Amino acid sequence: MDLRLSTPLFSAVLAFAIAGKVVLRARKRRMHWLFIGFASNVAVWYLATFLESRGSGPGSILARFTALMAVLLPQTAVRFLRAFRLDAPAHRTALDRWATWLLFPMLALVLSPWFGMMPYGAIIRGAISAYVLGLIIAAVSALYTRSRETPSRQERRRAMYLVGVGVLTALVTTADLVPFIVNRVVTSALPNLGSILVLGVLYMLSEVMERRRIVDLYELAGRFLVLTATALVLAGIYYRLVDWQVVAAGVHRDEGPYFLNAIVASLAILIVFDPLRDKVEAEIGRLFFGERIDFDRAVSVLRHRLAHTLELEALGRVLIEGLLESRRVTSASLYLVDAERKGLERVTSVGPNAVTHLEVASLRTLVELAHPSGAVARDTLLREAEDRNELGETREAERLAECARLLHELHAGVGLPIESDSGDLLGLLTMDDDRVRDAFSQDEIATLRALGTQCAIVIENSRLHARIKERDRLAALGEMAAGLAHEIRNPLGGIKGAAQFIQGNAPADMPQREFLDIIVEEVGRLDRVVRSFLDYARPYQGNPAPLDVNDSVERALKLVATDLPENIELYRDLATDLPQVKMDAEHLRQVLLNLIRNALDAMQGRGTLTVRTLVRPLGTFVTKESERGPELVEIHVKDTGPGIDASIRANLFIPFFTTKQQGTGLGLPICQRLVESVGGRIDVRASDKHGTTFAVVLPTPAAIANTSAPSGAEELSTGEHMSVLHTRSLRP
Ligand code: ADP
Repeated sequence: MDLRLSTPLFSAVLAFAIAGKVVLRARKRRMHWLFIGFASNVAVWYLATFLESRGSGPGSILARFTALMAVLLPQTAVRFLRAFRLDAPAHRTALDRWATWLLFPMLALVLSPWFGMMPYGAIIRGAISAYVLGLIIAAVSALYTRSRETPSRQERRRAMYLVGVGVLTALVTTADLVPFIVNRVVTSALPNLGSILVLGVLYMLSEVMERRRIVDLYELAGRFLVLTATALVLAGIYYRLVDWQVVAAGVHRDEGPYFLNAIVASLAILIVFDPLRDKVEAEIGRLFFGERIDFDRAVSVLRHRLAHTLELEALGRVLIEGLLESRRVTSASLYLVDAERKGLERVTSVGPNAVTHLEVASLRTLVELAHPSGAVARDTLLREAEDRNELGETREAERLAECARLLHELHAGVGLPIESDSGDLLGLLTMDDDRVRDAFSQDEIATLRALGTQCAIVIENSRLHARIKERDRLAALGEMAAGLAHEIRNPLGGIKGAAQFIQGNAPADMPQREFLDIIVEEVGRLDRVVRSFLDYARPYQGNPAPLDVNDSVERALKLVATDLPENIELYRDLATDLPQVKMDAEHLRQVLLNLIRNALDAMQGRGTLTVRTLVRPLGTFVTKESERGPELVEIHVKDTGPGIDASIRANLFIPFFTTKQQGTGLGLPICQRLVESVGGRIDVRASDKHGTTFAVVLPTPAAIANTSAPSGAEELSTGEHMSVLHTRSLRP
């Protein structure tokens, strides 16, 4: 079959596809349904034309059906164009009445017996063509009149765009009607350009319905131009190469050399395709979209500058300068989220915008609406709100309108939330060009989105940089403090020695003796604080060696037993067969003494102190001895004191936190660091009005080797009725 004969079939399929695209749209208004009617009408007309061309008589049912579809074409077109949404209302006009009145005589002509007779058939077809063309021209001119009444400049331009598409429709209809009049699908060797253009027009119409921003339509037209121009040039090359070779060789098209030539031509096209498309795109861009290209360039320069920015103060300056240089922005503001993540502060601004502070909560809708395009445009929001209202979706309409109001307050045409990779809001960039409406096209907004991503990187990098700087500063400060503490200890020793000397030699009734006691006591306290601080600041390597925990417990208890208050009872419950742990003996003694002293302090001279050691397998229960895995050793120090209040519990391991008059607040933090340095941890296992249990969990060397060492409550056996209040990981 000649390829050109099947053009109407392809056209029918494509027209159905365009209609289908609108059918699949989620929310369809009346205009959409009328478009679906129009596009389907075109599709059925093409289909009938194709079937008719395969050999049916001029008066056949198929020929009449084709004519019927042609008669319906202007009817569906007129109705669709009238329903097309513009700011100016569409009243019923004389055109509508004419369209209705003319329909019946046309139908009568199609059904009349003369339709299949020569020469009446050709006259009837001519009349139908005149009617089709006349009505389409009338509908386009009505649209033109309506566009003049539109108050907004923007809408007028949009309507004019549509008029242009309409004129094109009229032209291509004429091109397509010629074969219809003479009742032949293909009359010449010319390709069926009319159908290609009809489909182009249909596609443009379907897009014009969706795009209410004139800049987007220009862009659409641009893409269409690039595509058509590239296709025409490529088709030209192909046609020239293949046909010329065929003619030169004098062979029939179905023969071998023709196929070979086609391959050569295809290869040539594949080679030139990319550079050609780029060239065409660049040329069309330069001719029609110079402003767009300049904007892209300005944004890319700005992104380059931002890549070299590290300070937040510089970010605002570079951003605003770059945007102003693009000459597409008359006002812009940058807001950054504050430290508490509750509000946003304006850091830089140019042009009118009185809002200096924003609540994060007030931006929730804006951020939601900005997904997934990355930004929201005020005009688009307003139009979308109008559409939603029309569809009865008032809540969504109100949401959109509210967001548009916020942008209006901020003097922003476009709002661009700046978000981190994990989706946290970092800031907001607003821009406006108050010289025009719809200042930025969808593609330009996509470009701006990349700018938002770049800003997010700068913000995160600058915060990281600030944190590193602060950490370095604190480390230096810590070193200085440790040096200072060291320097303080020597004179302190001198003061204490001298005071004690005077104290020893002073007569018992000396009036200043009380002051000497205070000096000695306070110097002692100061010495303890400084010593603890130095302990805390010192590296914790120690000298870890295999250690019998029960032995360490016994030694520590012996030490405290010497000055144990009278009403304190001491219990020990030490497990036999306790595996050894690897830890510096002095470190473990320090930990135990600290926990025992804290327990004694808590009981205030009356109560029971229990020290217990036990061993637990790491992980799940085991049934066979051979399956026993690595183990943990636990030391529990239990008192019958008043327990620890929840507010205090949260701060136990924070350096310098103490509730005691004479405390340093460094005991538990030091214990924690010592235990963690060998891969263990300290927990508060239970604390209520009956007392507190601290647990020191130490891994055996086998447990350390096992990397799957669990940490936390799950390893407690069910027999132990204790709750884990504070857990630390086995490995820091
Ligand atoms: P310090 O003993 O110098 O105050 P620690 O770091 O050893 O420093 O203890 C911090 C705080 O934890 C204590 O001041 C006390 O309030 C609380 N604390 C520690 N152990 C117990 C306990 N067994 N019972 C009640 N409170 C305790």
